[in-house]
Formats: sequence, C-alpha cells, structure tokens
Amino acid sequence: MPLKKNLKQMLFWLLAFTLFIAVYQNVKNIEKEKELPYSEFKAKVKAGEVLKVTMRPDLIKGEYKEGDKTAAFRTIPLNDDKLVEDMNAGGVKSYSGEADKSWITSLIINLGWIAVFVFLWWFLFFRQAQMGGKQAMSFGKSRAKQQDLKKQKVTFKDVAGCDETKDELMDIVDYLKNPKKYRMLGGELPKGVLLYGPPGTGKTLLARAIAGEAGVPFFTSSGSEFVEMFVGVGASRVRDLFERAKKSAPAIVFVDELDAVARARFAGIGGGHDEREQTLNQMLVELDGFESNEGIILIGATNRPDVLDPALLRPGRFDRRINVPVPDIKGRTEILQVHARKVKMGPDTDLSIIARHTPGFVGADLANIVNEAAIMAAKKERKVVEQKDIEEAIEKMIAGPQRKSRIISEKEKKIVAYHEAGHALVARLLPGCDPVHKVSIIPRGPALGYTLQLPLEDKYLTSKSEILNKLSVLLGGRAAEELTFHDVTTGATDDLSKVTSYAQKMVTEFGMSEKIGTISLKKDESEVFLGRDLMRQPGYSNETAKNVDDEVKRIVLECLVKTKEILTVNKKALDAIAAALVEKEVIDAAEMDTLMKGLEPEGVKSC
Ligand code: ADP
Ligand code: MG
Ligand code: ZN
Repeated sequence: MPLKKNLKQMLFWLLAFTLFIAVYQNVKNIEKEKELPYSEFKAKVKAGEVLKVTMRPDLIKGEYKEGDKTAAFRTIPLNDDKLVEDMNAGGVKSYSGEADKSWITSLIINLGWIAVFVFLWWFLFFRQAQMGGKQAMSFGKSRAKQQDLKKQKVTFKDVAGCDETKDELMDIVDYLKNPKKYRMLGGELPKGVLLYGPPGTGKTLLARAIAGEAGVPFFTSSGSEFVEMFVGVGASRVRDLFERAKKSAPAIVFVDELDAVARARFAGIGGGHDEREQTLNQMLVELDGFESNEGIILIGATNRPDVLDPALLRPGRFDRRINVPVPDIKGRTEILQVHARKVKMGPDTDLSIIARHTPGFVGADLANIVNEAAIMAAKKERKVVEQKDIEEAIEKMIAGPQRKSRIISEKEKKIVAYHEAGHALVARLLPGCDPVHKVSIIPRGPALGYTLQLPLEDKYLTSKSEILNKLSVLLGGRAAEELTFHDVTTGATDDLSKVTSYAQKMVTEFGMSEKIGTISLKKDESEVFLGRDLMRQPGYSNETAKNVDDEVKRIVLECLVKTKEILTVNKKALDAIAAALVEKEVIDAAEMDTLMKGLEPEGVKSC
C-alpha cells in the first residue's frame, strides 16, 4: 500500500519535471531568437547577411550573420510581394514556407493551464475532503502510538530513587520475556499493573523505561484520548488499541492518567450512561477477555488510585499495584545525580546537601531545580553551576521568584522584619523544630518575607508536641507584630490559615484532643465535586461539631499565649534579629547564631 502510493507520487513528480523542462526549453528558445523589426530584416536581406528563412503567415524565422557567428531571429511579416525577389537577390541560401502551427502551440499552452488548475483544484479540495473522510473513518481508531524501541533512549538507569518499584517492574518484564518459566508451575501472568503515586514521582518515566527495557512492542496512550464528545468513540478506541496489541503480542499497553477514564461510576448528576462509563466497561471487557497467556500486559498510571472504579482493581484485572513513592533522602540524591549529569556542575556542588534540603520534593521538582540552577548560572555568565545557584533554585521553588523591584516603605520593612524575626526566633527556641536555614525580607512570590526552615532528616511521623511547636512558629509572626507595634496587619493571613487547618486536623483526624477523643471525624473528600457526596451528612452531631470548633480555638489560643510569652522573655533577641534584617535583608543560620550570643535564654519548654 505505501509502495503503491510512493510509485504514484514518483510518477507525478516525473511528469511535473518533464513538463517543466519542456516549458523551460521553449521559453529559452524564444529568448534566443532576436526580434527584429521588419525594416531591419529587409535591410539585412538586401545586404546579403541573411542565411536562412522559414516563413509562416504569422511569423518569419531564420538565421543571419553577425560578425563570424550566426544568430537566430524572428520578425512579423508585412504584406510584401517582393520579398522572394529580394531574397534571391540577397543570396539567401534556403528559404521555405511552413504550415501555421500556432494554433497547436496555443492549444497545448491552454491545455497546460487547464491541467494546472485541475490539479490545483484536486489538490486543494478533493484531497482535503478525502483526508477529512479518512479521518472521520478513523475516529474510533486508537491513537496509541507504538514506541520505536530503537529510538527509545530512556532506560531504568534514568529513573532513580525507587529501587523497589523498579524491581517489581523488572519482574513483569521478565514475565513477558520468559512466560514458560512461570507457566510451568501453573502461575498466571498478571494482566494489569497499576503504577500509582503522587504527581512527578516518575510514573510516566518508568513506563517509558519499561518500553526501553522490555524489548517487546509498547503501545502508549493516555486516558484522556478515550474521552471524546461522542458516546461510543472511547469504547471503540479501547477495542482497537487492544486489537492492535494482540496482533503484536507479547506486548505492553500503557495507559497514562488512567483516572481520566476509570473514575468510579456513579448514578449522580448527568446520569450513569455517559461516555466514560462505556469506555470503562470496554476496558473491563478487554481485561477479562484476554487470557493471561496471550502475553499482553496493561500498565496504567495514576495520581488518584482512590477515585478509580473498584471493579478495575479487583483481582484478575489490575491485580498488581505498584507504588511509586515520594523519594527519601537517598532517592533524592540519586535523582539529583541523574539530572546533574546533563549539566556542568562545579567542584563545590554537594548533591547530598541539596537532597537534605529538599524533603518532600519529587523527581519532577528535583529535575526542575537542577534545570533552574543551570539557567541561573548561565544568566550570571558562570562556566559551571555552583552550589549557591542550586540553593537559590530551591528557594525560588519553595517561595517563588525574588521580586527585588517591589518597593517597600521603611515602615513596612520594619513590620515585615519583626514578623519574620518572630517566626525565626520561636523556631529556634522551641525544641524539636526544624532548624532555621535562612530568614529574608526580600519579597518572593506573593510573600513579603519568609523564614526557611529545613528539617535535618526525612520524617514520617509527627508527634503532638511537634505539631504544637509548629503552630507556635507559625503564630510567631503575628505575635511579634502585636508585641512590638501593639497593632496587627494582614501579613499573617497565610500563617493563620495554616494554623487553623493544622489544629482542625489535630482534632478531627489525628485524635489529639482529649475532649473529642481518639476518633476520626474526617470526611471522605474524593469526588465531592461530582455530586456523589452532595447529599451526605457530616456523620456527626451538631454538638460534636461545636466541640470541634471549641477545641480548635482552644489549641490555637494556647499556642498564641505561649508564643507571646516566649517572645516577651526574649524581646532583646527579637529586636536584634529584626534590626539585622532591616539592615541586611537576609540572614542565615550562622549570622543568627552570632546575633543570639549572650541573648540565649535558659531554655524554653514546648507547650
Ligand atoms: P509522573 O508521571 O509521575 O507525574 P513524570 O514521570 O512525568 O511524573 O516525571 C516528570 C519528570 O520528572 C521526568 O521527566 C523526570 O525528568 C523527572 N523525574 C521524576 N521522577 C524521577 C526519578 N525517579 N528519577 C529521575 N527523574 C525523575
Ligand atoms: Mg505522568
Ligand atoms: Zn508569617
């Protein structure tokens, strides 16, 4: 089929080329013939310079002597009876008549033009329409691309920091490569593998790496490709995708962002019979339909395994669920190493320090940091990326880009300085708080100033006292403003919303309030927007609701009192830090140490 098409195309171009050459030759010939006025022609005949003449009713062509060369000429004949006589007299060696072929020429030229127009019309309209038709015909075809394994450059080496995940995936690849080994003992191959984990942890990257490593055809598509306006299109695309995969089995089918099609079905707003449900049903049918020995494995990826339809997750369908976790410190170091290979790193860079400063960051964040650092180094015309570029990139990522252009009045600067000094001082004095890494009153993103605390290690558990201390640190800004200026500003808005949400979680989720007790009042928040939970009651009484509010208020208030106490006792230190901030705008941990010398209090207990 493609060969035929190629042949046609070649023929077409050959024809076009020939036509072009013919026209060109013609034009060239015309150019070569010199157009003479009749009088001059006559003069040349009389002078004996003309060698040859061909006569047509509408044209006289011929050759004449020009120096020692001969040149071609043409001229328009006049009604001249004596021309033959003159030619004889002038010694023209050969003269002859010619039939009038001009109409043939003009016919050919006109036909040529018509052909050009027909061709253009065909090209513009007919072909377009045909293509459009083809597209319409392939509407229900899957758009999944089969990855070219030779072009595939991503391997498991490019994915760092999730060794367990990789091991599990390796097993699957092994299944596909040596199915006999597993079937001998009667085991069944998995049909579906679900990669789940927060965004940016490398799920898509892992799938691409599998494509590179597995050595079998790999069909990649995305959940959104199956959601079209027309009911039934998605389902037909799913069918088509699996058909294609079956033809080239053993194969892997990858559906990214699976939640786009496989959300739980529900009889909510819009009714149950929507396009997505049909698509999902078709997927279930396909999953059930192929026997595990057909050698097709469906890999899905999602950030939201909680919203997937339970039917999809039952054994025999996506029976393998593989978590792609947020990387720990070791993982982060490895991920940074992977990405640092692509940029020129200076000798002073230490990726393990960067990894320590980026708890909770996922692979995508870390890739972004390295990239930002490289851009920043290039902007400053450095030859290599230095540690400070990476640090700056982290800060930009956490707090937004620096906004040096924002002009702040002296008065506001002082307020911001006290606010941040309050955060920093409380964080430093309360035990168990993350160490203060940097305090700044240079605006960044939406914030006027910020205090950067970085934990010493990854933490998976947080104790009640640690949360309370965190609340105190958050309230430190507001408390410092109040103590110093006896007035408060809107600067604490963001702090307060965080405080409130933490306190609420303590009471309703963590069981950290004695009055409410160790029960969870957490609402299931998934899918509320789809109407499933619109009618759901909160699940507890009004009295409990009031108690929750009281407890939240009590916790926040107690922390605020405690915070104010700490700051009052350490007012001198607060003044010192704030003054330093107004002067330098940024102070780091070491500078804070120096400032605090001699001002360190005897010890503060957490609340
Ligand atoms: P997800 O699909 O989980 O949302 P992606 O796979 O699209 O995340 O990751 C986005 C980018 O982040 C990748 O292209 C890669 O550059 C980087 N990245 C994420 N996780 C890792 C990892 N574990 N190792 C190396 N790079 C990673
Ligand atoms: Mg992805
Ligand atoms: Zn604040």
